[in-house]
Amino acid sequence: MRLARFAAAVSFGLLSAAAPCRAEGPVRPGDPLFDGSAGASIDAAMFQALREAPRPAAHRAPARPKASADLYYFTPEEAAEAAKLPSFQPKSRGYTFDSDVPPAIQAQVRDDLAFIKGIQGTKATPLHQKIYGKVDGAAYTQFFESRVTGIGMSGCGNGNAVACVMPLMGPSKMWLTQNYIKFSHPQISRMMVVFHEARHTEARHLFWGHATCPDPFKDADGNDMKSIWTGALLAGEPACDKTPLGSYGSSTIMLKNIQKSCANCTEKVRMDAGLYGNDQLDRITDADARREMEADFGR
Ligand SMILES: [Zn+2]
Repeated sequence: MRLARFAAAVSFGLLSAAAPCRAEGPVRPGDPLFDGSAGASIDAAMFQALREAPRPAAHRAPARPKASADLYYFTPEEAAEAAKLPSFQPKSRGYTFDSDVPPAIQAQVRDDLAFIKGIQGTKATPLHQKIYGKVDGAAYTQFFESRVTGIGMSGCGNGNAVACVMPLMGPSKMWLTQNYIKFSHPQISRMMVVFHEARHTEARHLFWGHATCPDPFKDADGNDMKSIWTGALLAGEPACDKTPLGSYGSSTIMLKNIQKSCANCTEKVRMDAGLYGNDQLDRITDADARREMEADFGR
């Protein structure tokens, strides 16, 4: 009973604490709640107690298939429900694989994260600085490992999905599909997916749910907008963002900064980062948000 009350209080705290987002107050220095970005932490014993507490009945997989685009979509209602769950992450950083994650996928993830850990950059744009800090492998690693605590296998709702976070299935868990290694895409694009999903673990921002893409949804040349991963049509799908800080926005900012400022990347890596970054930028459908990002990249 005491534990349940604590969990409820902490969940409320997570919703009401920190940074720029809807219906939130300012961060308080020394806030004991850990949400993966503020640097504070809860006591390890308390985390263990919370983790072992009975799960609410609502802690279940959403059963229905979602959008046909390449990344999983959760509803605002699911996000609100999941944000009430005890969603703490352990004090120790790092993630673990479920035992059913195939060795080839584990190896690919390790390889991808090792690649990003090695990135060294020069200056970062203001939006990048705000989200990740410097263009630097250590900062990216810290970002990922303070958010994602587990990696499992799932269909993520549809055959085109590459990866997902399903907040009701564990707010700090990232799920991969077989598509993660099925398609022939450059390493930087898998990184884009992984960091997109890491952003989705942020309970205090209601997991940065997607915005619905316009319908029709055309590029500058009048062609239908499609997923760069799968070719799936995006018109009317919940596969866009209206803010630079969401999952599409933040991963776009990362890629554009790597394109611009990575000092030890090959020319191909920087080119790929630009290609995928520009593609993801097209998913930012709010004109002000897009202008803000374009101005940021010019700095
Ligand atoms: Zn997403």
